[in-house]
This record gives sequence, C-alpha cells and structure tokens, in this order.
Amino acid sequence: MTITDTPASTRSEASALDLGPATHLSCRECSATTELGPYYACLECFGPLEVAYDFGDVTREKIESGPISIWRYKDLLPVPRNVTEVPNTEPGFTPLLKADNLARELGMKALWVKNDAANPTHSFKDRVVAVALAAARELGFSVLACPSTGNLANAVAAAAARAGIRSFVFIPSNLEQQKIVTSAVYDTTLVAVDGNYDDVNRLASELAGQYEDWAFVNVNVRPYYAEGSKTLGFETAEQLGWRLPEQVVIPVASGAQLVKVDKAFRELTELGLVAGGGPAVFGAQASGCSPVAAAYKAGHDVVRPVRPDTVAKSLAIGNPADGPYVLDVTRRTGGAVEDVTDDDVIDGIRLLARTEGIFGETAAGVTVAVLAKLLREGKLDPDAETVIFNTGEGLKTLDAVTPVVGPAGTIAPTTEAFRALVPEAEN
Ligand SMILES: *Cc1c(COP(=O)(O)O)cnc(C)c1O
Ligand SMILES: [Zn+2]
Repeated sequence: MTITDTPASTRSEASALDLGPATHLSCRECSATTELGPYYACLECFGPLEVAYDFGDVTREKIESGPISIWRYKDLLPVPRNVTEVPNTEPGFTPLLKADNLARELGMKALWVKNDAANPTHSFKDRVVAVALAAARELGFSVLACPSTGNLANAVAAAAARAGIRSFVFIPSNLEQQKIVTSAVYDTTLVAVDGNYDDVNRLASELAGQYEDWAFVNVNVRPYYAEGSKTLGFETAEQLGWRLPEQVVIPVASGAQLVKVDKAFRELTELGLVAGGGPAVFGAQASGCSPVAAAYKAGHDVVRPVRPDTVAKSLAIGNPADGPYVLDVTRRTGGAVEDVTDDDVIDGIRLLARTEGIFGETAAGVTVAVLAKLLREGKLDPDAETVIFNTGEGLKTLDAVTPVVGPAGTIAPTTEAFRALVPEAEN
C-alpha cells in the first residue's frame, strides 16, 4: 500500500499525515531517512526503520493530567493527536507493585513487579497493538493482521473487534489451547499454521506483500508497533515518582520490548523528565530458545537462529528481529542476557505466585528465574533498585503448572477427614 492508493478523503499526501510528534523514519543501520508512511525496510540497505520525532514541550504535569492509559504519553508516540477519541482497548498504566516478599526471599533490598497481566487481554501486547492500530488507520490500512506466538493474537483480535474492523491472525498450530480460545472468541479469522513461529512469520511477510490493505502489526507497520513498548518504560519511571530504576529484567522474544524500554528511559532523560543515568538492562530467555543469550555469552554481535523447544511459547522466536539491538543495549548499560531451563521457568512461576500473589505466564517464570540466577551468579546487584516485568497472565498458560500444583487432598465432607488430612492446622 502506498499513500497515493488511499482515498483522497482520508489522506492525499504524506505531509498531511498526523502521527503526533513523529517526523520521519530513520534506518537503524545506516541512518538514511524516509518520509512517514507504511514503510519498514530501508531502501538503501534493507535495515529496519525506526520512528524519529520532534517532541517539543513535554512536561510531567501535562502527562499526569492525561488519561489513565498509555495515551497519557501520546505526545511521545507516533499516533494521531485525536487518538483517544477513536474506540480502542485503552491499555496501560498497569500496577507497579512493590515486591517485598520476593525481595526478601532473594536477598534483595528493593524490588518491584510491573504487572502487565492487568492489560485488557492480559499481556503487554495490548500496548503495541493499540499504537500499531492508531498508526495503521492514519496510514490508510483497513484490516489488522499478525503472526503471533499467542498474546499478540489475543491483542489484535480484541483491538480489531473494538475498532469494528476485520482481522486475520496467524499462529503456530501447537499453541496453548487457552491462547487459541482467547483469540477466537473475538471472532477474528484465526489461522493455525503447521510450523513454528518463524514459519508463521515468513508466511505473514509474504501475505503482507500481496494484501495491500492489511496492516500486519509486527511486519509492515512494525516501526510504529514497536514504539508502543516504550510506554512500559514511561510508566515505570512515572510510577517510581519520576525516577529511573537501577536495574530492569525484561523477557526477550523478538527483543523489541527490551530495546524500546531502554529507548523510553533515554527519551525521558533527554527531555529532562527524569534525572540521568538509566538502568542496567538485563534480558531473559528460556534455554530452549535462547539465541540472544547464546550470542551474548559468546561475545558475538550477530544472533544465530535456533529451532525453539520450550514451555515458554510466548518467547519462542528462533530468529529474533531485534536480537542484535538487545546485545547493544545490554552491553552498553552494563546488563546481560541470561537463560533458564523449563524446570526453572515453572519454579519461577510458582515463586512469584507464592511470594506476591501474582500468577504470571511462562514468560514471567523465565523473568523471575533469570532474576534469581543472575543474583546467584553475582551479575545483578541485590542492593540496587530493580524492576522486573510480568508481561502476561498465568491463566493463559495453565498447562505449564497443571502437572505440579493441585489440591492438598480430596476428603469426605467431615471435620474428622479434614483433621486427618491437615493435622498441623490446629497449631
Ligand atoms: C511478546 C511477548 C514478550 C516479548 O516481546 P518482544 O518484544 O517480542 O521481545 C514478552 N512476554 C510476553 C508475555 C509476550 O507475549
Ligand atoms: Zn539503511
């Protein structure tokens, strides 16, 4: 789709686009610039494009007087100025919970959990989809689509339903049943593909070239989509009282979230909204799909693709688009990328649930387990203020913990039977 294909009643030329403070697209590899539009690859070097801005005057007061959603940061996002007036799922401003029990258990001084399971479809993906949809409408697309490891499917299907537009969602056929149902219920066209996520992603790229009215949120409008992850960083800083934490631990699939959260911290610093000195950024992967952790440990700048095999399906991207940038960010900030086994992932889910009453999905298990491993190995400072991201809801990955948790027993409805089952309950 090119701008000139759009009806004159919507947009006649690129300069008429309203994408808020966004001014142009810039290549992340060679810095060549492109006008705003439905473009995602550099014409010079095929590198990925990124949104560039002229922010103007952004103040804490203006942000604080905005809506209780990601749209309080709309002056820092590539979305139309009237974005809140169009029906959307209103994600964001999820709780930042002080996690004193978990901190005590791990020997840490100050720990918070940013709980993105509180989003409309219970994962952080609602943020990126809301931004992608707002930009896609402005760019003249009429259909929303995506390849997904599960959570993105939920978010796209729900956002399209609320926007009243058609959606097509492509998933690997071996996805968790919970994530299939929680997409299909929105009456999207859900297509299960025999293959892993990287196969689905390849198919989506081909389809994006053939269906010109379709915005594949994480393919052909990816520069706009990815910016939505910045809101996790903005909120974390605002909820800490306009301060940056000293360390953050973030799960890595494509790596876009980690890279954009770091970008958010740098933008806030440059705008003078927080004091300087961003956190050390740590990435978390499951060992069964840990191409970025492997590259980090080997000291490589490139990420060699792998074939995923892990219970953490939401993170099972074997060829992560932002992998090299995750290496840049973690090395520049003094962080690291670490990975944990599937058994550790289950333990991580249970540890977070037992200590903080938060039931995260497998990605949360990865993050908590990596936090514990980094502490054990002395790579993370237990005395530094640390924020970890719970990016998704445990109810969507029930199968992961079903084999290891359950009732203490099944008894007859008598007090004797109960006393026999739990003799120590009286003391
Ligand atoms: C997609 C996803 C991530 C990782 O996002 P990327 O930007 O692709 O690295 C993390 N957690 C959950 C639950 C996700 O669904
Ligand atoms: Zn380029």
